[in-house]
Amino acid sequence: MKIGVSYGTATLMGFNNSKCDCFPTTAYLITGKKCQNSCAFCSRGSGKAETKLSRISWPEYEFNEISDRIKSLYKEHKLKRVCFQTVCEKDTVNNLKELIKEIKSKSPIQVSCSIGTISINDLQEIFDSGADRISIPMDCVSETLFEKIKKKSFKKHIEFLEKAGNTFKGKITTHLIVGLGENDEEIFDFLLKMKKCEIEVGLFAFTPIPHSEMAHYKSPDLKRYRKIQLVHWLIKNGYSNILDIKEGKISQIKNNIYNILEKTKDKTEIFMTTGCKECNRPYYNERPGQIPYNYPYKPTEEEIQKAIEEALS
Ligand code: SF4
Repeated sequence: MKIGVSYGTATLMGFNNSKCDCFPTTAYLITGKKCQNSCAFCSRGSGKAETKLSRISWPEYEFNEISDRIKSLYKEHKLKRVCFQTVCEKDTVNNLKELIKEIKSKSPIQVSCSIGTISINDLQEIFDSGADRISIPMDCVSETLFEKIKKKSFKKHIEFLEKAGNTFKGKITTHLIVGLGENDEEIFDFLLKMKKCEIEVGLFAFTPIPHSEMAHYKSPDLKRYRKIQLVHWLIKNGYSNILDIKEGKISQIKNNIYNILEKTKDKTEIFMTTGCKECNRPYYNERPGQIPYNYPYKPTEEEIQKAIEEALS
C-alpha cells in the first residue's frame, strides 16, 4: 500500500535527491485523499483530491519501504517521532490503527497523529494501537469565525477537546492557526484553557493556499506572530498574570517581562516550533530563505533578540 510522505521527509528518507537546509526531526506522513470536511483554509476540503496540505506536497511511496526507512533513521538518531496527518474519510480510524501498529512493530519511535474525531472511543482505540500522542486540531479559536471556517460547532469541539485532555492527561495536542481573523483575547483564553487540561498547543501561521476558500487572505504579520509565541510561552510557564488585555487585544506585556527573560537560561524554545516534542515542521508555513514563523532549529542569540524585540514592539 502507498501513502503520502511530506516532501522534506521524503528527502531525508532518500526518496529524492533534493537539497535541504533543515531536515525534519519528525517523519510526516499522510493517510487518505478526499477529505469529507471543508475547512476554508485547506485545499483538500469537500472531497477535492488536491495533493498538498498547507504549502507542502506529499509524494506517495510503499508503506513497507517507508516503515523500514523510519526504523533505520530512528537508529541513526535522525528521526525522533512519526506523525500521521489524516484526511477525514470513512475508514480513517481503522486505517490509522493498522499503520501505527506496523510502525511500532519495527521500531520504538514515538508516534503522534492528528485527527478530527470527536469520539473518546476512537481516541482510546488509536492509543491502544500504539500511538503516544493524538492531536485534535482546533485550528480556529474564534467562536464567531469557527463555524464559518471549520463549518462545525465551536462549543462541541472545544468541549470535546477539554474532555479528551482530561481523559488522556498529558497525551493530547492541539493545533492553533494564528491569522484566521481571531483576536488576541480569543487566543489568550484558549491557551489558558489548554494549559488547565495539560494539552500541548502547536502554533501555526495561516498560509494562503491556492484552491482553498481563503486563498486570497494574507499570512499574519510577523510581529503579531512573535507576540503570540511569547504569550504562549508565558502562559505555558505560569506567567499569564503579566499580560493585560483591553478590547480584545493584548495591550501590554508588563515590565517584569525583562526580569523573566533575564532569568530564563534557554530562550530558544520561545520561538521554536511548538506541539509534540521533536516536531519541527520545517517550511510548513514559509518558503526556504524566508524568516521562519516557527524556528525549526535552535535560533541563534541574534535571532532570539530580534524576535523578542518584534514580540514587544
Ligand atoms: S504537533 Fe507536530 S507531531 Fe504533534 S500532531 Fe501536530 S504536526 Fe504532528
